Amino acid sequence: MPIRRTKIICTIGPATDSYEKLEALQRAGMNIVRLNMSHADHDGARRIIAWIRTLNRKVRSPVAILLDTQGPEIRTGIMSQPMDLNPGEVVTLTVRDAESVETTSIHVNYHELVDVVEVGNRITVDNGLLNFEILKKDGMQLVCKVIDGGTLGSKRHVNLPGVRINLPAITPKDRQDIEFGLGLDVDFVALSFVRTASDVGELRSIAAHMRKRIQIIAKIEDQEGVSNIHEITRAADGIMVARGDLGIETDIADLPNVQRRLVHAAAKWGKRCIVATHLLESMIENPIPTRAEVTDVANAVYEGADAVMLSGESSVGKHPVRCVEQLNAITLQAERYPGLGYEEDLQNDSDKQQLAIHAVALAESIKAAGIIVITRRGIMADLVTSARPASVPIYAFTNDSQTRRRLSLNRAVVSHRTDFSNQPERTLQRAFKVLIEREGLESGSKVVVISDVLAGAKTDAIQIRFLPKAMEDGTIGSPSQ
Ligand code: PGA
Ligand code: MN
Repeated sequence: MPIRRTKIICTIGPATDSYEKLEALQRAGMNIVRLNMSHADHDGARRIIAWIRTLNRKVRSPVAILLDTQGPEIRTGIMSQPMDLNPGEVVTLTVRDAESVETTSIHVNYHELVDVVEVGNRITVDNGLLNFEILKKDGMQLVCKVIDGGTLGSKRHVNLPGVRINLPAITPKDRQDIEFGLGLDVDFVALSFVRTASDVGELRSIAAHMRKRIQIIAKIEDQEGVSNIHEITRAADGIMVARGDLGIETDIADLPNVQRRLVHAAAKWGKRCIVATHLLESMIENPIPTRAEVTDVANAVYEGADAVMLSGESSVGKHPVRCVEQLNAITLQAERYPGLGYEEDLQNDSDKQQLAIHAVALAESIKAAGIIVITRRGIMADLVTSARPASVPIYAFTNDSQTRRRLSLNRAVVSHRTDFSNQPERTLQRAFKVLIEREGLESGSKVVVISDVLAGAKTDAIQIRFLPKAMEDGTIGSPSQ
């Protein structure tokens, strides 16, 4: 059995708060426990640390301890019972210190909330699930309309996308938690909402003051952290791709790119990288993961993450041990195929395929605006697709509607139907006209053409061409080469 390279981090919570559970998690493959100080108190954390130390005397590979600070994060208060919120309803958010006992008012633990937001802003609660629009400021309260409803439980995340929160990187509570953790010699401190390298520096000086050696994991959770990723990564010992908050604070559609950039930055500066949040989210309830989750975990492995992390899955979920077993199995499978490269090179050494490969290489190297394929049955379009141009699009022109439809599946192909002339140059001019008029390519731009209609049937050829200039009357003139 090969060793598993990717490490597994488990957040401990009510579902795993016993020596037996920790032992079972370790046996299933857990490498690090995470104490989430947004939820854990010192007594609970001390108990878990003691259990881990006992466990470590019995096992071959020890479990490390990561203390994760709450950070300058905003949360709703404690609810005596969950609150149902329906779209269109009006609720009030209050920053008064009292617990949210009233059934229509939600307590938020950020005193300056009312000052930093504006009427019309969005407030997002519980990782994007609940959305409110601010209707009115009313003293220490915000009157809001429910946009996306649902059930609100206790201590849910609050995000104010795009609003800069003027809270310190290390809050007084964080400092207490950090000193508590360092006092108990935890191995890692994960610092939430790191926005600059100096946030990391502040933690370093707390540790230096206490004469403690500590590994600092900078959690990247918002746009500012992403923008400063290189200076932060250099200052820290590792980073966490905190996808929960990143998915709200930045464009969720851009999250995969952000993840790649962050994993890359860690690799560049020789630092550790943890991919966190929602890896097996559906397993909070279900005994098996979704296909998309399995693939997501594998992608983190392909990208080269040092560790994957469970949050709710292991702290409050129904199947914490099975989650670790799944992570173990998925990572082991993914690690059989290191890197993102294709396992095998293209298995087609026909002359036509070679010609397509060279057309693509030519188009990429001269930075052509497109590769134009004149194709009847789509065969040459398939060969060009299979040569996988990295950035240049493929424009396929065919005189056959069925060919055009089937090219819908080909990566990077934009297809058009056009009649073929028995004069090849005419067909090409028609294609150029379409590229300018319908695809928005500029006159004069460089393209690579690959076709057998150029030099007569059954003779393939590659050309470099320039799209013609438009004539005064709007028609396309003769080619300028
Ligand atoms: P959290 O951090 O679980 O402490 O919010 C991780 C994340 O935001 O993904
Ligand atoms: Mn977070």
